[in-house]
Amino acid sequence: MARIEIVQGDITKQQVDAIANAANTTLLGGGGVDGAIHRAAGPELLAECRTLHGCPTGEAKITKGYRLPAKYVLHTPGPVWHGGQNDEEELLASCYLSCLCLASEYGCRTVAFPSISTGVYHFPLEKATRIAIGTIAVYLREHPEIELVRMVCFDARTKEYYDAALRALEEGA
Ligand code: ADP
Repeated sequence: MARIEIVQGDITKQQVDAIANAANTTLLGGGGVDGAIHRAAGPELLAECRTLHGCPTGEAKITKGYRLPAKYVLHTPGPVWHGGQNDEEELLASCYLSCLCLASEYGCRTVAFPSISTGVYHFPLEKATRIAIGTIAVYLREHPEIELVRMVCFDARTKEYYDAALRALEEGA
């Protein structure tokens, strides 16, 4: 899938139309990638997020990117992993899908994602990569308006798992 790219890096530095934020349901900022995005975007981002009154897990809300190179931020609260019996897999797929739908709606052609839920929310990494890559690939097949989706992995281990999931998809596994 030529329109999916996997890189190791910092999502706040990505020159794309929209970046996704692995937020929490308050949308009022947190640690991890959420904290990094708020720090890089500046206080105007939190001010806009306050007007959104939170977001349910698996859904997404859009804001401007302010001081980020990206024009928009797609805020999506990922599921906390509780063992897999609480719709965690469906909710994670729904995060990616909700962000991509919003990106299309707002005319974005390039979108970058962090590895949603695999940090402090403890979603098993291998399972998360299959869900992320599978959901993105299905969406891209039906939506030519999105030219590129970049998975931005913060560490080498995460990138290895996303690379493997993309290889498996390309090999039809
Ligand atoms: P969650 O609560 O959804 O698990 P986290 O922020 O704890 O979210 O972690 C999600 C992933 O984002 C982890 O792989 C973490 O290493 C990564 N991450 C943290 N900071 C950044 C960043 N600046 N750019 C990209 N990924 C990041």
